[in-house]
Amino acid sequence: MAGGAYARRERVRVALVVGTLLALAALAYVLWPIIAAAEGRPSATSRGVPRSEARADPTPEPETAVASERAIDDIAEAEIRRARGRMKVCPVCGPRPEPAARYCSRCGRPLA
Ligand SMILES: [Zn+2]
Repeated sequence: MAGGAYARRERVRVALVVGTLLALAALAYVLWPIIAAAEGRPSATSRGVPRSEARADPTPEPETAVASERAIDDIAEAEIRRARGRMKVCPVCGPRPEPAARYCSRCGRPLA
């Protein structure tokens, strides 16, 4: 019966070794992107963008930037004015964000 006990102990040892190896493999698989990113190697998360493209200067010429910023400001202002035009106005609280409301949601007064 000593052989049976030895075989069982051997199976338990093999299972422990295999389980430990699987756990280490899973841990390495999970930590690999973090380790790779820390070492500057391309990882699964950064593989989508080539380094040369990622380093390309995203800022356009200063004049163009100012002009496009102004255009965006103009568009935003027009959009805000249009939204304000649709807004109902409470005599106490001012413009209210509910375009279909008949009464102010803050003070309950009828909206103009
Ligand atoms: Zn009000």
